Amino acid sequence: MTPLQLQGIGMTSQRTRDRLVSRLKEQGIKNQDVLEVMANTPRHLFIDEALSHKAYEDTALPIGYGQTISQPYIVAKMTELLLAGGPLDNVLEIGTGCGYQSLVLSQLVRRVYSVERIAPLQEKAKQRMQLLRVNNVRFQHSDGNWGWPDEGPFDAILSAAAPETIPMELLDQLKVGGRLLMPVGPDGKQMLTMLIREEDGVKKQVIEPVNFVPMLSGTQK
Ligand code: SAH
Repeated sequence: MTPLQLQGIGMTSQRTRDRLVSRLKEQGIKNQDVLEVMANTPRHLFIDEALSHKAYEDTALPIGYGQTISQPYIVAKMTELLLAGGPLDNVLEIGTGCGYQSLVLSQLVRRVYSVERIAPLQEKAKQRMQLLRVNNVRFQHSDGNWGWPDEGPFDAILSAAAPETIPMELLDQLKVGGRLLMPVGPDGKQMLTMLIREEDGVKKQVIEPVNFVPMLSGTQK
């Protein structure tokens, strides 16, 4: 695990973060490394100051451009599911958004590759990583439906946006044994789905109903 360097950024609200972690445990999150990272990751730096009093509530919150920062439970759950396959060297994240999930992952895996279709959201996420001196996350402004072929194949791919069906290009960018975790389905009917690539096929596991923003096509300046 790579601890964050948090000197000088006002790491207040440790008690509220600890309460959040207690709730995550109650909801079934067990991986100690994940819980520790959730306890030490400053979610309040990822949302508008006007909403920062809600930073450690277990809810999604608006981050502009019609997008949301994911609910802490789902960030912890997805991270735990990916790590259950063993240590991760390189992970592709689709939908940087504000960068909160990228920061959580960056502390638990060797390298994170994060793509986002809305340029200004990703710019801000990049700035936050610089502020926190995180240097194992690389960003690309692109349509995540196509993955990031030049950097693949990946140990894991995680998406924070829901396609109606799983883009085949993403499966092609998984290593054998690699895990693809994403919400799949139309609004109101999404299921968190995990595909594990095997030597001779793909194993599919449906985890639970979820509610993510839709995966859109193309990019936005
Ligand atoms: N990971 C973020 C969640 C952001 S919400 C967090 O930690 O809170 C999902 C993000 O996916 C949005 O920012 C949205 O713009 C982005 N997105 C949607 N479709 C996409 C696509 N095709 N390619 C890349 N990003 C996409």
